[in-house]
Amino acid sequence: MRILRAAHLGMCFGVRDAIALALEHADAVPLTILGDLVHNPTVLSALEAKGIAVAQDVAHVETGTVMVTAHGTSGRTLARTRALGLTVVEATCPLVHVAHRAVAALSRDGYHVVIVGQRDHVEVRGLTGDLDRFDVVLDDGDVLALEEHPRIGVAAQTTQALEKVRRLVDLIRQQFPKSEVRFIDTVCKPTKERQSAAIEMARQADVVIVVGGRSSNNTRELVKTCARYCARVHHVETDADVRAEWFDAAEVVGLTAGTSTPDDVVDRVEAQVRECAVRSLVGDERR
Ligand code: SF4
Repeated sequence: MRILRAAHLGMCFGVRDAIALALEHADAVPLTILGDLVHNPTVLSALEAKGIAVAQDVAHVETGTVMVTAHGTSGRTLARTRALGLTVVEATCPLVHVAHRAVAALSRDGYHVVIVGQRDHVEVRGLTGDLDRFDVVLDDGDVLALEEHPRIGVAAQTTQALEKVRRLVDLIRQQFPKSEVRFIDTVCKPTKERQSAAIEMARQADVVIVVGGRSSNNTRELVKTCARYCARVHHVETDADVRAEWFDAAEVVGLTAGTSTPDDVVDRVEAQVRECAVRSLVGDERR
């Protein structure tokens, strides 16, 4: 059995920088992170071990300094947080800032903003938090429920699969032929690289393992993408989730991981897959 790692996989620079910033500030002052810095339980427990608190709401913050996560937040939320007398450290990824600027430009130019993404995701709440009117779509049904506007401006949550985003933009254009529809591609480069590398890998694999947090959007998108090219796809959070029976008669096992998955978690999953391969070889020889 051969293990094929996707050419691009795992933690992106935005998440690495956010974790480094949290650890750096936690050494200097008591720190609370607003929401999950990343959607990965392994990283979150490492931050907790450093004494960093996590609050889902600013009302529950007990430290003088709070950190906005890599997913970013709206200008209104930032202003509200600062008005409470809290010092704000922004770990917002620069590519999320790019998406914020795109949304602001669409709104300023008179477009009705439509975001392709998950309505309740923290990044989408940040992208739409300064708008009075907007829509969020994730599938064809959401697009069919949209109302007509003379100008519609579309941007995407940075971790959506670009192929799906383009398909929904085409559907919006078909549904509103009289509207001027402008699309700004805000899917980030690391997401695109991981998506295309996952396709390349899944095409050659008998089984695919995707490593990442269950609530990580980009990990779930990788699972969906791989499932289009390989019938046996498994999503694991850690090596403990790997099952030996998944690899029966598999010659090539593909491996990829979401942008918030630490390298050591991916390495441990790979080691566990190898271990399963060795065990099945020994089993075959005994039979
Ligand atoms: S997934 Fe993209 S936008 Fe999100 S933190 Fe990583 S690089 Fe930044």
